[in-house]
Amino acid sequence: MSRAPAGRLRLRVDPVACEGIGLCAHVADRVVALDRWGYPIVDGDLDAGAAVRAARRAVRACPRRALWLEPADQRR
Ligand code: SF4
Repeated sequence: MSRAPAGRLRLRVDPVACEGIGLCAHVADRVVALDRWGYPIVDGDLDAGAAVRAARRAVRACPRRALWLEPADQRR
C-alpha cells in the first residue's frame, strides 16, 4: 500500500453537519467545488502552500464547522 508523502494534507467534510450553503467554495474555489445540489467536493491531497492556505480559508469560513484538515496519510 502506498502512503502519501509526509506533510501533505487532506480537506475533509462532515456530510451530516454540512448544509450545502456553499461558502467554502466561494472563498476557496481552488480546492472546493460544489456538486449539483451545492454540497462541497473536496477530493485530493493538498501539497502546495497556496492550496493549503485556500483550504484553511474554507475551514474558517464554514458556519457549520463541517470542514477540517487532516494529514493525508491518516486512515479514513
Ligand atoms: S461552508 Fe460549510 S456548510 Fe457550507 S457548503 Fe461548505 S462545508 Fe457545507
